[in-house]
Amino acid sequence: MLYGLLPHYHPPMRIDVLTTFPEMFYPTPPGAMGVSIPGRAQKAGILELHATNIRDYTNDKYNKTDDRPYGGGPGMVMMCQPVWDAVTAVEAQDSRPATRVYLSPQGTPLTQDLVESLASKPRLVMIAGHYEGIDERVIERLDPIEISIGDYILSGGELAAMVLIDAITRTLPGVLGHGDSALEDSFSHANTTNPDGSVINPKALKGLEIPAGAKLLDCPHYTRPQVWDGMEIPPVLTSGDHNAVARWRLEQRLKRTQDRRPDLLESGLSGPESADSVDSPGEICDDA
Ligand code: SAM
Repeated sequence: MLYGLLPHYHPPMRIDVLTTFPEMFYPTPPGAMGVSIPGRAQKAGILELHATNIRDYTNDKYNKTDDRPYGGGPGMVMMCQPVWDAVTAVEAQDSRPATRVYLSPQGTPLTQDLVESLASKPRLVMIAGHYEGIDERVIERLDPIEISIGDYILSGGELAAMVLIDAITRTLPGVLGHGDSALEDSFSHANTTNPDGSVINPKALKGLEIPAGAKLLDCPHYTRPQVWDGMEIPPVLTSGDHNAVARWRLEQRLKRTQDRRPDLLESGLSGPESADSVDSPGEICDDA
């Protein structure tokens, strides 16, 4: 790889997904990863996405990736060998160190902090499970970060991987244009600049008390027509007064957060969650 020899060249972030359904990650439209922000990021050379079929790494003549569970019971379990061989083969395709992620309902719940922390890694290898999950021994050996996208059960890790890839991609530098700036997106801190980059006059924000470090939800958004079915947009948005608009938006962000997610106002106190502080299953959690 030439990466070290080209000081101004930022190689695309590489994400590999190990799956038994690689076609779900089809990199061009109409595949979900070939359109919208992930599609744009791949086209711009900011994201490099590969989906590898775990089935290609089976030693079994029928290409089986799963077998019956020891101890009996329903369902099947993904076997160690194909998962291990697929992960190690894919990792050997690129010299950059890979952060391993296993999408699992038993993992750390995904947050924007965790998304941003993962986005700072040069390379991710995501493993999507199926059936009852993956044989615990290969999870122990791979020692991935386990991430859950919510307290519900999906049929497989592919959709969870896509959620994670989409959320990571929109945070990569150069992916979002001015038109879809993440500045005021939910779970960000109170913004001190407008989406056009101009600084909000602090005087305009006088008396607006936002707890330090708090995360806020986004403000409501409106577009044309100005009156729809008798419903008018808030007049400040057509006032032309940028500072008044900025104050209104921050007020709305604060109010929405107080009404819907008051827990976020405390979030600054615990500090951001990072991929490095999330326990892998192989690590012993030391709460002392
Ligand atoms: N028996 C497992 C359990 O209860 O923990 C659930 C297995 S689930 C049917 C099959 C696969 O889907 C998992 O191995 C995981 O990769 C993925 N999956 C399911 N729900 C998920 C969630 N909420 N977040 C992330 N991945 C999930």
